[in-house]
Amino acid sequence: MPQLSDTMAEGTLVKWNKKQGDKVKAGDEIADIETDKATMPFEAAESGVLAVTAVAEGEKVAVGTIIGVIAEAGEDPTELRSRYEKKGGSAAKVAQSGPSKQATAKPNQPDPSSEGSAALSDKPKSAGKADSQEQPGPKSAAKGADLVKPAKTRYDYDLIVIGGGPAGYAAAIRAGQLKKRVLCVEKENLGGTCLNWGCIPTKALLEDGAFVRKLRTEATDRGVTIKEMKVDFAKIIARSRGIAEKLSKGIGFLFSKHQVRRDTGTGQLLKPHLVRITTEQGTREASADHVILATGAKPTELPFAKFDGRQIITSREAMNLPTQPRRMAIIGAGAIGCEFADFYNAIGTEVTLIEMLPHLLPNEDEDVSILIERSFAKRGINVCIGTKTEKIEKSQQGVKLTLSGKTDKTIEADVVLVAVGVTGNTQGVADPNSGLAIERGRIKVDPQYKTNLENVWAVGDCVSIHFPEQEAMAGYRHPDLAHVAHHEAMNVVEHLFAGGDHRIDYRFIPGCTYTHPQVASMGMNEKTLREQKRNIRIGKFPFGASGRALAAGATEGFVKLLFDAEYGELLGVHMVGENVTELLAELVLARKLEATEAEIIEAMHPHPTMSEAIMEAAGVADGRAIHI
Ligand code: FAD
Repeated sequence: MPQLSDTMAEGTLVKWNKKQGDKVKAGDEIADIETDKATMPFEAAESGVLAVTAVAEGEKVAVGTIIGVIAEAGEDPTELRSRYEKKGGSAAKVAQSGPSKQATAKPNQPDPSSEGSAALSDKPKSAGKADSQEQPGPKSAAKGADLVKPAKTRYDYDLIVIGGGPAGYAAAIRAGQLKKRVLCVEKENLGGTCLNWGCIPTKALLEDGAFVRKLRTEATDRGVTIKEMKVDFAKIIARSRGIAEKLSKGIGFLFSKHQVRRDTGTGQLLKPHLVRITTEQGTREASADHVILATGAKPTELPFAKFDGRQIITSREAMNLPTQPRRMAIIGAGAIGCEFADFYNAIGTEVTLIEMLPHLLPNEDEDVSILIERSFAKRGINVCIGTKTEKIEKSQQGVKLTLSGKTDKTIEADVVLVAVGVTGNTQGVADPNSGLAIERGRIKVDPQYKTNLENVWAVGDCVSIHFPEQEAMAGYRHPDLAHVAHHEAMNVVEHLFAGGDHRIDYRFIPGCTYTHPQVASMGMNEKTLREQKRNIRIGKFPFGASGRALAAGATEGFVKLLFDAEYGELLGVHMVGENVTELLAELVLARKLEATEAEIIEAMHPHPTMSEAIMEAAGVADGRAIHI
């Protein structure tokens, strides 16, 4: 008797749809079973002949009880039945192959053994003297014993995913492609932060900003006279929102294509296999073999300045403001802070960018951070590095910020964007009684994204990954990036449903910042390698020496590659310049295929392209560069 719902303890065999002796195909609905909730069809797990119907129609038995036996092709159903009946239907015994499994069956009794053991309950070896003297039965009978395993618990779905961002939707679509029964619960638009409020809409804004800046700063040099130029802020915002909407709808289309069911609502893990879904229509529960939590992250608030959505805002409001602010302060100069500084500066807002650490983009190689600092300052962004925001006061006109450190003064702005990091979106994601381990707002997972609960997985921005103490990555912080979220989700689904066993090398995660010039990097920076006393060779090639960059009017920046001095292993990539985010994939692949500096130089790069700077940088490292 299969467990067809999470609360089902016994079931009534309402009707056999096949008779003893009938042929059955795996998936055939061979019986109807009434559970505590509904009458449901019971599918055969195997093809063969229904050799035994062990439970009569109308009989109620406990979950785990043997209700029937199927003889596989090559097995003799009559023999299997007679062996079963010989035991009087109350203690049939079928020997299993293999030395240690002498099985004694008690039909109509719950199987005390766990999933995967014989349904004919195993007698403990010590208590099975008489049994153990029996000869193992013929192979067919042994197989018959296997077939009387209780059917695997049938949940509503194979997979429930909570969250429809790049982690959640990728997991759902991949599982759908693998023909799994999938439900994705998303409370907002499909696509998550990335498509709706992150990666994509910001890139649309940055493109428009760069276009405006080019017209303003380069038109005359390129022989174009513009008499009057006006920026329509509302139109720029509308284009960005339109792209987000289009992409989100595209995910909905992919869900339909791969038969992923989507519920618009909030998902909460109640316990392994069971999720509560709260929608506008009410609350229901759904069960699944596996649950993936992919609830993402939200902006971190400063303790002394609560977000109000008007004057103290997150990136979400910053990309959808009703009017263009005249003055904007931005706290935090990571990728998000720098990208907004770039955009608003380009369209004419007066921007102050405040960073507590000694450099903008503090996680990048110092050479990169310094170049961006200079470039921003040259463009009129008020860059305040090594500066702490002590206080934010709101007024009728906007906000007043008290700064200390390298810049020690108060500044005023219409609006302040706080971009100091993100915190996992984990509040309410699991019932407190579920016992799901959450630490500092993030779901604790191991390197295979397993949570502390069986069959519950978590991926993307909501996780805190824990490598075993002895591994080099112990203590590493999870990178909150869309491509990381996507790959983690794919790895879990492939592992669950396609036998995949791929692991991400977190030391070499590519990362991009879409400022102008752009930043693209992967692996370790020079400072870290020097601190580790690694023997390295550095190859740095400036775009000023690239013909393609000159032609494009994009000479700012460089490619800097760090190699192990002895083996030529690529240890770090640090690029700044026009469209370098598009160049990074070459080096991701080079690293993946363990290419050395020699192989990068010898790989012919097309001319004239910005990518030649990569070949030249590798050439600088080993003394074979031509154009410098
Ligand atoms: P999310 O995308 O946040 O998706 C989680 C989803 O879960 C959300 O849709 C949320 O509504 C839903 N959810 C949460 N709780 C529940 C619940 N209980 N029930 C149902 N649904 C729930 N990354 C890059 O790689 N490149 C970039 O250029 C980039 N730019 C960014 C710019 C900005 C302004 C921001 C904010 C982020 C940017 N990121 C970028 C980061 C990127 O957006 C995230 O790393 C990525 O979206 C994480 O994916 P995720 O699926 O883990 O989470």
